Parts: sequence; structure tokens; C-alpha cells
Amino acid sequence: MSNCIFCKIVNGEIPSAKVYENEHVVAFLDISQVTKGHTLVIPKVHKENIYELDSETAQRVFESVPLIANALKTEFNPLGLNLINNNGEAAGQTVFHYHMHLIPRYGKGDGLG
Ligand code: 5GP
Ligand code: ZN
Repeated sequence: MSNCIFCKIVNGEIPSAKVYENEHVVAFLDISQVTKGHTLVIPKVHKENIYELDSETAQRVFESVPLIANALKTEFNPLGLNLINNNGEAAGQTVFHYHMHLIPRYGKGDGLG
């Protein structure tokens, strides 16, 4: 989609700090990280949210998550990790290209409670 910010990240029109990439998905640091290493994983194909995600695309995204989680574990040494996926404006979705948040957690001091 031409006016989608994440499609622009996929095709290199806007820069991102990439954590992982393969033929079908890309993971990059969130522009406003809620904790150190906050990462988004997206399919390269434009799908608005979970309701549009076909099973092949879902599989490609979800099978990449453990790889990315382990890369973040190695890089940032968190104590835990939250996976969060907002679907629809009412649920807090602000970018309408499917994405999963990977939010490393560092215990009481990480500010998220
Ligand atoms: P949502 O609220 O839709 O679940 O999450 C969208 C996320 O995308 C937000 O955490 C926001 O900081 C991030 N984001 C928005 N624009 C950009 C951008 O241009 N680059 C990066 N790396 N992250 C972005
Ligand atoms: Zn898109």
C-alpha cells in the first residue's frame, strides 16, 4: 500500500533499525521503544490486522517470533518478554499494517509495572 508507513519500511523508502529479515517478514526496532529492544515484526505483504491475516502469512510471522525473541535475549539480556498485538483502533492499533510487538522486560525498573 503506497501510503502505509510499514510498507515503506519493507521497500526501504524509510529507514529502520532491522533486527531480523527473511523473504516474508521483517523485524525492526520500534521508533519509540517502551523498553530497550522493543521490536515490531511484520509480514512484508500488506495485511491490515489479524482479521485479514491468511494462515500462510500468519505462519510466516509466528514462526519468526521465537527466532527474534532469542536474538533479543542474546542482545539485551531481558528477564522476560511480552508479545502484544493490537487489532483495530479501539484496541490501540495506530498503524494499520499487521504487526506484533516484542517487548523485552527487565523487572520492576523497566517502567511498565
Ligand atoms: P500499534 O499502536 O499500531 O500497535 O503500534 C504501532 C507502533 O509503531 C508504535 O509503537 C509506534 O511507535 C511504531 N511506529 C510508528 N511509526 C513508526 C516508524 O516510522 N518506524 C518505526 N520503527 N516504528 C514506528
Ligand atoms: Zn503496509
